[in-house]
Amino acid sequence: MNVLIMTPVGRTADGAQIDYFPQRWSGRSGAYKVTTFYPFSLGYLSACLKQRTPCAVRLVDANYYGVDVDEYVELVVDLRPEVLVVEIDAIIFERQLEVFRRLRQRLPHLCIIACGPSPSAEPQRTLQHGADFVAIGEFEESITRFIAGGCRTPVPGIYPLPRAELVDIEALPLPEDEDIQRRDYCRLYGSEYREVELWATRGCPVMCNFCVVTNVYYGRANFRTRSVESVIAEIRYLQARIPQLEGIFFNEEAHNFNRRYVHALCRGLIDAGLHRELRFNCMGNYDTLDAETLELMRAAGYYKVRMGLESLEADVMKQISKSGRLKADQRKLVEVLRLCRELGIKVYATLSVGTIGASYQQDLRSLEAVRALHDEGYIQEFSLSINTPLPGTPFHARAEREGWLRAGAGFDGAYGAVLDLPGYPAADIERAFAYGTQLREAINRDNLARGVRYSSYDRDWCAPVYATTGRRPGEGLR
Ligand code: SF4
Repeated sequence: MNVLIMTPVGRTADGAQIDYFPQRWSGRSGAYKVTTFYPFSLGYLSACLKQRTPCAVRLVDANYYGVDVDEYVELVVDLRPEVLVVEIDAIIFERQLEVFRRLRQRLPHLCIIACGPSPSAEPQRTLQHGADFVAIGEFEESITRFIAGGCRTPVPGIYPLPRAELVDIEALPLPEDEDIQRRDYCRLYGSEYREVELWATRGCPVMCNFCVVTNVYYGRANFRTRSVESVIAEIRYLQARIPQLEGIFFNEEAHNFNRRYVHALCRGLIDAGLHRELRFNCMGNYDTLDAETLELMRAAGYYKVRMGLESLEADVMKQISKSGRLKADQRKLVEVLRLCRELGIKVYATLSVGTIGASYQQDLRSLEAVRALHDEGYIQEFSLSINTPLPGTPFHARAEREGWLRAGAGFDGAYGAVLDLPGYPAADIERAFAYGTQLREAINRDNLARGVRYSSYDRDWCAPVYATTGRRPGEGLR
C-alpha cells in the first residue's frame, strides 16, 4: 500500500505562510517563515509505518514549502497514493477541506485519513467534506494499526470508536529523518545556538482551558517520559547527522514537570559528557523548579528555560487552570526567577492576552510587570499570543455557549481576536496585543544590541528555510 503523509496547505487565503504547530497554536507569519517546528506527530507516524508495516510511505511537509491549494492537489494527484494522512488545525481547516473535496473528484479511490485538532473536534464535518476516516487525539499508534489492517478493521482512536490509550513514547522509533530532516527545522525563535528539537517527555498535568495538546490530543492530564538512555542515544544520533549542531531544544509541554526525571536526565547528560559539547533549552513549567534542580540543569548545560506563564496577574492565572498547579503561584514564580538570575539561566516567558477572566487593564499590568522583570534581569525574552479558543478546548466550548465568538473570525493567535470577552471586547484585546508586541520587539532589539546571538538570524544555519522563500510551485518537493 502506498501511504502519503502530509502537513496541510501551507498558506492562508491571503497568501501568508503559516508557522505551523498544531499541538500548540499556529499563526500566519507573512511572506516568509519565522519559526519552523518539526511536525513531530507526523514524523513519528511516518517512522512507525515504515518500521511496522510493509507499506511504501512518504512524508511531505507542504507547510514548510508554503504549498498552496492548487499545487497541493496536483502534488497528490502526481504521487497517486492509496492512502493520504493529513494533520490539520483550525487556521487552515477550511482550505484543507477544499483540498479534500477536489481530491475526491480527481482520485475517487484515494483513502483520506484526517487527524489533528480540527478533525478531532469536528469528525462528522470532516467526513462530510471528503475525508474517509478521522483519527481522534494522539494518533501515531491508532493510524499505524488502522493502516496495518488495510484500513478495514475498526481500531480505537479511529472515529467513531473512542480515543485510543495514550502512546507509550518509549516504544516509538526515532521520528522520520529521511523524507524530511530534523536539521532543516532550524529556525527556532528564541534559540541562541544551532539547535534542533527533541522530545524527551510528553504530557502536562495542568490542563489549561485553552490548551490543544492536553485537551484534544491527550484528553486528560498525563505525563510520560522516555528513558534517559534513549534520549542520550538520540542526541548522539543527531550530533552524527548534523555536524554544525550546538544545542538541543526540548520542545515539550512540561519538560521539567517530574523533578526526579530531570535530575536523572541532567546526570545522564553530564555522565555522557554532553554538558561540554552542547547547550540545552527547554519548554516547561516553573512550579517544580527549585535550587537543586536548577543547579543541576545549569551544570548539565541548560542555558534557558521557557515557561508558560500566560499572565502575571494572580486573578487571571487562577482562571486559566483549575488544576491548582503552576498558573497561580506568584510567590513560587518570583523564587524561581531569582534562582535563575543567580545561576545565569535565562528565562523565556510565554504570555497571552485575552484569556478567560482577563481585562484590558490586567493584561497591560501583566505586560508592564514583564517589562520590569526584564529590566531587572529576571526575564530575558517573552513571546505573546492572543489567547484563542481553538475547537476542542474548554475555552472554545465556553465561548460558544456564552456567545462570545465573533462571526467569521479565523483562528490565528498571531493576528486578530476572535471573540468579545465580557467587559473586554475584541478591539481592546487587539490593542493589548499590539502594545505587548511593541514591548516584545523592543526587548528583542535590546537583547540584540547587548550581543545576544539568536540562531534564527544565522543565515548559514537557516539557509534551508530561507531557500523556501520565493520558491516557485513545483520546486523542491518532488
Ligand atoms: S501548561 Fe497549560 S498550556 Fe502548557 S502544556 Fe500544560 S496545559 Fe498546555
